[in-house]
Amino acid sequence: MPRIVIVGGGLSGLAAAYRIRQRLPAGEIVVLESAARPGGNVWTERDRGYTVELGPNGFLDSKPSTGDLCRSLGIDSQLVAASEGSRKNRFLYLDGRLHKLPGSIPGLLRTPLLSLGAKLKLLSEPVRRRPRELPPDETIAEFATRRFGREVADTFIDALVTGIHGGDPAKLSVAAAFPRLPKFEREAGSVIRGFLRASKEKRRAAAAAGQPKPGPPRMWSFAGGLRVMIEALSATVPVQTSVGVRRIEKTESGWRVRGDGTDAWPADVVVVTAPAPRQAELLADLDPALADEIAGIGYAPIAVAVLGYRRADVPHDLDGFGYIAPQRTRRDALGVQWCSSIFPDRAPDGCVAWRVLCGGTGRPDVMAWDDETLLRKVHEEMTITMNVQGRPVFDRIVRWPNAIPQYVVGHRERVARIESHAARHRGLILGGNAYRGIAMNDCTEQAERIADDVASLVNASS
Ligand SMILES: Cc1cc2nc3c(=O)[nH]c(=O)nc-3n(C[C@H](O)[C@H](O)[C@H](O)COP(=O)(O)OP(=O)(O)OC[C@H]3O[C@@H](n4cnc5c(N)ncnc54)[C@H](O)[C@@H]3O)c2cc1C
Repeated sequence: MPRIVIVGGGLSGLAAAYRIRQRLPAGEIVVLESAARPGGNVWTERDRGYTVELGPNGFLDSKPSTGDLCRSLGIDSQLVAASEGSRKNRFLYLDGRLHKLPGSIPGLLRTPLLSLGAKLKLLSEPVRRRPRELPPDETIAEFATRRFGREVADTFIDALVTGIHGGDPAKLSVAAAFPRLPKFEREAGSVIRGFLRASKEKRRAAAAAGQPKPGPPRMWSFAGGLRVMIEALSATVPVQTSVGVRRIEKTESGWRVRGDGTDAWPADVVVVTAPAPRQAELLADLDPALADEIAGIGYAPIAVAVLGYRRADVPHDLDGFGYIAPQRTRRDALGVQWCSSIFPDRAPDGCVAWRVLCGGTGRPDVMAWDDETLLRKVHEEMTITMNVQGRPVFDRIVRWPNAIPQYVVGHRERVARIESHAARHRGLILGGNAYRGIAMNDCTEQAERIADDVASLVNASS
């Protein structure tokens, strides 16, 4: 009976364990999680009528992997879609007010966010020639400036990077963080042409399969929050919480995973999904060079302040997802998600629930603020940007020092080196959001690949 130990009970570890169990029903699988609960970044609290997401707010249906996992777990009937308004209306806070982000060509022509020159530059992207030799990797800022012009890069692309990565567009790799963009340029000669071509292909495939015409991606969660998925996963695989793994050792017959104290778990295969700095610590004795490579993956810190306000104290109609303040504006809040406008029942009657995201690589100083200071600053920010008229009636703060791995230029090459190095250690598999995608969808997609790899290893040995 193969013994498989998974280190880290976040979404990556739990989903991998679930998919491994499907492929190897006779396997002895255990997930070791250092925290007192499973889920890692993904967790929901319910308190005084508020449903509070501490990490992600939802997952997109732009990739099928998380939806497939929910169907496989039998929890898909509990899924709730984000409101139509939140899908259509997203805002940018710039020059002292909220601007609706344009969602169409006429909207783009009308937006005051860009000069006429910048609009023309953006609209002429499909006919802009692709350089004869494309750089192997570029920063997001370089790529966006080259394709769309500086204003679009500084305003829209910065906002996109702030909202997803909390990182610096002048450092992050476009190929690692947004692989579709350089692919479109490479294959279609232009990002816009590539995007239109891909959308047409998607529509054609949906029509051929008798499915409705696909729209823009939609965000999903559960009435009870994303914790529903974590609880469903944890019910299918044994998870031992409050077990901090300290070392991973090679033995004559395979592996030994050592926890705090004297506990040790023998294993044929070890899957490590803890955040990169922890992976590096666990592997430091086994392979210092591999550990050094992994330790080179940095993270953006994020502080999430969940605030409840009385609806009557908020003059805005709140028909939307929320807003982002581009990082170059260096505001105290990177952005705000209007959670009770996105999903139903997130706040008690007569109240709203918002998540204010602070920090990122541009404002790590925010992480040192104590709760009182952070609350005061985010509330002040809400009086400025949202014109709120009363004090918060609910608050909850959570800090994620290692929130989002930063895929800087050279990340893909680093991952290739890590993978080829790790391949020398048969039975050791590295995963988690540090390598090939930071979204929940990437973690659930990766789970299938990990399960395939574990199954081939086990089947080859037997
Ligand atoms: C604030 C925030 C908002 C986000 N918003 C979204 C969103 O809206 N949509 C989306 O798709 N994605 C979002 N993400 C990203 C997504 O949540 C993560 O990429 C994903 O949850 C990562 O899962 P993981 O299992 O790879 O890592 P983690 O969640 O970090 O899990 C790793 C686990 O390993 C455990 N661990 C660490 N060290 C040890 C050890 N020594 N021994 C045992 N266990 C250990 C940790 O306790 C943790 O539980 C967001 C992330 C954050 C932080």
